[in-house]
Amino acid sequence: MKELICITCPKGCHLKVDEANDYAVSGNACPRGAVYGRNELLHPVRVVTSTVRLEGGPTPRLNVKTDKPLPKDKMFECMALLDDVTATVPVHVGDVLLANICGTDVNIVAAKSVL
Ligand code: SF4
Repeated sequence: MKELICITCPKGCHLKVDEANDYAVSGNACPRGAVYGRNELLHPVRVVTSTVRLEGGPTPRLNVKTDKPLPKDKMFECMALLDDVTATVPVHVGDVLLANICGTDVNIVAAKSVL
């Protein structure tokens, strides 16, 4: 039995996931917790937020994020790839700055516009 806290909403339910019983989840106040608990053990994912270099802007860095959750085991590889990314003004929110990270079909996109 694995215990974890659901991070899907601010309520933070304390979940128990029973690996021996087809990853049955208890302690969740809503169905999203059951999905989270099961996925967290079987294939955990996270949205990654970071910054990249920005040329021609008012600040030297641009906020970026993944456009969908990335497998957790690819996070460090993703962060290392960001070292080589430079965005150039103008940048629009949602612009893809790095596509298909580690073959995952997840992209790094601009989190804000700098015009
Ligand atoms: S189980 Fe539902 S109510 Fe509880 S923290 Fe997760 S999303 Fe929120």
